[in-house]
Amino acid sequence: MDGKQVFILGLGLQSPRKLVGQNLDTLTKPSVLTLNVAADRGSLYLCACCGKPCPAHDFKALTWRHLIFFQHHCFITAQAPRTKCEKHGVHRINVPWARGGSKFTLLFEQALLMLAREMPVKACAEYVGVRVKRIWRVIQHYIGRVGRALLQMDLSELKVIGLDETASKRGHNYVTVFIDMDRSDKPVVFTTPGKETVKQFKTFLEGHEGKAENILEVVCDMSPAFLAAAKEELTEANVTIDWFHVVQLFTKALDDVRKAECKLRHMPKELRWAILKNADGPLTEKQIAALAELETSDLHTATAWYIKEKLRWIRKAETSNAARWRLSNFINYARNKLGYVDILEPVRVKLWKPWSATQKRYWNAGIQPTQMLAWKD
Ligand SMILES: [Zn+2]
Repeated sequence: MDGKQVFILGLGLQSPRKLVGQNLDTLTKPSVLTLNVAADRGSLYLCACCGKPCPAHDFKALTWRHLIFFQHHCFITAQAPRTKCEKHGVHRINVPWARGGSKFTLLFEQALLMLAREMPVKACAEYVGVRVKRIWRVIQHYIGRVGRALLQMDLSELKVIGLDETASKRGHNYVTVFIDMDRSDKPVVFTTPGKETVKQFKTFLEGHEGKAENILEVVCDMSPAFLAAAKEELTEANVTIDWFHVVQLFTKALDDVRKAECKLRHMPKELRWAILKNADGPLTEKQIAALAELETSDLHTATAWYIKEKLRWIRKAETSNAARWRLSNFINYARNKLGYVDILEPVRVKLWKPWSATQKRYWNAGIQPTQMLAWKD
């Protein structure tokens, strides 16, 4: 198999199209590989309406950005035909490697969506060398497909929603996803970019047989914007803080304390990861030794670590009474050590309230990453 056949195979080219040229431009940074695709003169193409083979009416030169090939940015160029069908007239036909109107190949769009799951869109844009706006257009297109399926949705039974931001929280590049917490299959109810997300959700809900006053539970992070909007728009709902976000907040604070303190005091290097893991989780012997040393020290990192572990201990409570007692114990302990610090306030205000069985259920369940990702599938 020669190099040309590798490309043909990789692009999935089928008759009448074939690869007629390839050019690697190494003078540009990054270097650019261009693949030219064409068909023999007089080839027939399938009419977009009836599928009948028809002659080409005319051609237009188009270029699509394709996957990065080794270190080279790759582009496909082709003469895209318009068919002339006896019955249906002249129509532009889509090439098999891209959706109509897109300047990216399907494989490149798929790669963009996968990257956007793993990193902020801005970082993704820098990595592939494509403008942020264009990546958002692709994401919006596929959300749109989910969105169309949502148009027929009946939300009259919706009672519990989870909401979370995804992708980048910096700049304007974020989307809020609303999840039906009682559904495991296709749980995404609504997605929206922009700021007034809860208000938009309320409008959407009311347009789909739902009522704002039916929503009894909202699971979200501790973002003041969400909390304020949930209180204003969904007046009957209890707000339950998503457990994952609470732990994340304390884990980050712990890491900040360690970072600041390790400049002043010696700490074993194993400590860095050991404190972020669960104390009863899989730890190496060196990590166990580092934690044992930490416990007997007078470091602030030791206090912060103990508070984070105590937070996990609340969640292990078997009954709602036990959870309430542990929460009270946690707040007292943390206040005693830290005073009235900001980080405790949302925990105290939002978790410190009569603890119903449903609340505990949703608090424990949290918003699962798989639920969050479902909107992009
Ligand atoms: Zn036709």
